[in-house]
Amino acid sequence: MGKKVLIIGAGGVGNVVVKKCAMNPEVFSEVVLASRTKRKCDAIAEECAKIGLPTKVETAQVDADNVPELVALINQVKPFMVINVALPYQDLTIMDACLETGVHYMDTANYEPKDVAKFEYSWQWAYQERFKEAGLMALLGCGFDPGVTQVYTAYANKHHFDEMHYLDIIDCNAGDHGKAFATNFNPEINIREITQAGRYWENGEWVEIPAMSIHKAIEYPGIGPKESYVLYHEELESLVKNFPTLKRARFWMTFGQQYITHLQVLENVGMTSIAPIKFQGIDIVPLEFLKAVLPEPGSLGENYTGETSIGCQIKGIKDGAEKTYYVWNNCKHQDCWKEVQAQGVSYTTGVPAMIGAMMMITGEWMKPGVWNCEELDPDPFMAMLNIHGLPWNEEINGTLPHEY
Ligand code: NDP
Repeated sequence: MGKKVLIIGAGGVGNVVVKKCAMNPEVFSEVVLASRTKRKCDAIAEECAKIGLPTKVETAQVDADNVPELVALINQVKPFMVINVALPYQDLTIMDACLETGVHYMDTANYEPKDVAKFEYSWQWAYQERFKEAGLMALLGCGFDPGVTQVYTAYANKHHFDEMHYLDIIDCNAGDHGKAFATNFNPEINIREITQAGRYWENGEWVEIPAMSIHKAIEYPGIGPKESYVLYHEELESLVKNFPTLKRARFWMTFGQQYITHLQVLENVGMTSIAPIKFQGIDIVPLEFLKAVLPEPGSLGENYTGETSIGCQIKGIKDGAEKTYYVWNNCKHQDCWKEVQAQGVSYTTGVPAMIGAMMMITGEWMKPGVWNCEELDPDPFMAMLNIHGLPWNEEINGTLPHEY
């Protein structure tokens, strides 16, 4: 029996989640899409009808910063669960509304307060007891990274290692959207993530580094070498907690020189600041203004060429011998456009979000409490990745970039 879901957020990722859910009516019998701007929800619903997707999509308006508004909407829709693909700022208000109305919760990015560029799981982990007592599940960070990268690591741990020692998550976007400067997901969140200090885990503690100060060309399958930068990324926090044998865990992401040059200029002139300034008598946040003039992530898809490659490279011990394991997915932007009118970064986030919801609805992952993706059985999720558009590859005992 399929279930009804309420999806909040009608951006690049929301578009993909809605369409992938609407393609699977046996799991998602009804879909309601709500966001701040209802016109964007209606446009997605119309596209779903136009391309003939079997599940009907209804739409609604909601300000997800407002708990009473969310509660009223959830009570009216009565979904099995809420899939939150709005912004990280809304995670806690939506979790509060889910608790108040007794529905399950899922998101793709961890909570960030608007006035501090800082992401950590503490705020959401603090909901553990309340979700458990209510018999409700909250699945955190179920996109690609966070999300699939944790499922990959859990899969490696279950099937390939007795002890994992080194983890490098490597994320490459070798695509070209033809714009001088644009971000592939929400510009505000993206720029906050990249301009903060880098951080990685080594020998039981966090090592902090200046932003973008460690970099190296990494070889990506089917793409070749691409300059990759060590960033702090949220899944590292839960991975080192859940896999305490890890001696080192790092996250690498590629950036082109053109992107970095634009970002440096914007930083140097103060456009990436989140401190409010007075402009013509009103308070504005420079980064919010910058977002308003940059292309929306959902608009980049049509002429996007090239592909993404995201994976986990792990070194550890199996049966007393050293072993390496690399698991990854490559995804072509143009294939995503053909299938759901999206670019690859929205697609690689939206498909795992749909699969996470599917795991909860089918019961494979249903467990009261607040969970990160590596805490649940990776096998059914890995099987669904192959079926729903993100097939994975693996290499055992290949060469990994551990000497960096
Ligand atoms: P977009 O900016 O394209 O979309 C965000 C959507 O949320 C917009 O429709 C926006 O509405 C809506 N929204 C914002 N504030 C509110 C609010 N107060 N109430 C209701 N709706 C609101 O972003 P993306 O689709 O690219 O990203 C969505 C989420 O996915 C983000 O949290 C992002 O961090 C996460 N993400 C996760 C990844 C992963 O791999 N785990 C990778 C990429 C993204 P409006 O149109 O009115 O502005």
